[in-house]
Amino acid sequence: MSRRPVAQINLAALRHNLQRVQHLAPASKILAVLKANAYGHGLVQVAQALTGADAFAVARIDEALALRTAGIVKPIVLLEGFYEAAELPILLANNLQTIVHNELQLQALEQTELEGQLKVWLKIDTGMHRLGIAPQQFNEFYRRLWQCPTVQPGIRLMSHFCCADMPGSAKTGQQLAQFQQLCADKAEQRSLANSAAIICLPQSHGDWVRPGLMLHGISPLPDQQGQHHQLQPVMRLSSRLIAMRKIQPGDTVGYGANWQTEKATWVGVIAIGYGDGYPRHAVNGTPVWLAGREVQLIGRVSMDMITVNLGPEPMESIGAEAVLWGPELAIERVAHCADTIPYELLCNITPRVDYQYL
Ligand code: PLP
Repeated sequence: MSRRPVAQINLAALRHNLQRVQHLAPASKILAVLKANAYGHGLVQVAQALTGADAFAVARIDEALALRTAGIVKPIVLLEGFYEAAELPILLANNLQTIVHNELQLQALEQTELEGQLKVWLKIDTGMHRLGIAPQQFNEFYRRLWQCPTVQPGIRLMSHFCCADMPGSAKTGQQLAQFQQLCADKAEQRSLANSAAIICLPQSHGDWVRPGLMLHGISPLPDQQGQHHQLQPVMRLSSRLIAMRKIQPGDTVGYGANWQTEKATWVGVIAIGYGDGYPRHAVNGTPVWLAGREVQLIGRVSMDMITVNLGPEPMESIGAEAVLWGPELAIERVAHCADTIPYELLCNITPRVDYQYL
């Protein structure tokens, strides 16, 4: 029996979640966001499974090239754009679409000679203040991109919400209004909505929606779980119980001796730790699903192991399966107990974990 933790990836659940996006935004095309190894699920396998998506978005050029090398032919958008003119022929040769978010990129497009034209998305900063041109620059960028011989006619317009996961946020309303006002007299295709906006803000859907997290069955909204939006968890992270011991009143468990028992208790040791990507800051009481029942994390998370409270009499035996998150145990609960977000838990999984695609 393998001692290595396993991340099972349920591709049927992934496709179900894509259908949920189609159901929520029926008039929009889907630009599936697959950056950071498809949120830790496996870039190429996820792309191959998402045949129903219209295009893929990644952050960086190496992610896009990995998809092309694997034979993925759908359109690919680089969400961070390019960094220097020397990359432009690579974009053209690999049919990659780029975001333009600053003057340097625009100049590179204007000053480079290419044997073809690139598809370009103009990113407008409506309030995130991360990437994007200022709204005051919009008319100038729009005009210059249209005149640029290296740019395909029909640029696309996009922006990104900073508070879409806070329903009712005034900021989201302001961003939407600004984007709509800027684009009002333009015929170009538009994109604004991430997962939270796909669920909460239909008026933001536009021509292209950009789901990331919800494709993996996870709620983008705090205090909710994927199931509340009829999403199915895609990843099931599991490992095995590798040791058990009985401790006596007053005994402590783990580094720092920060958990102490008042009564005789069985402690279970599960082969997963922060070296595998399990969050080190998960607190005492974080749920773990062990062979059909929920038990609680006790003591500090170690590099290779965690310890759980099995109670006065253990019901499990060595080798029992433990699920750290998945259909049996919502990742949103674990993230909450580790004072983080599911996005980070997924991205932190390390190469020590085996992947199985179902
Ligand atoms: N669009 C952009 C520009 C992003 O950076 C991201 C992810 O951070 C997304 C869409 C997808 O967001 P989410 O995973 O919340 O759906």
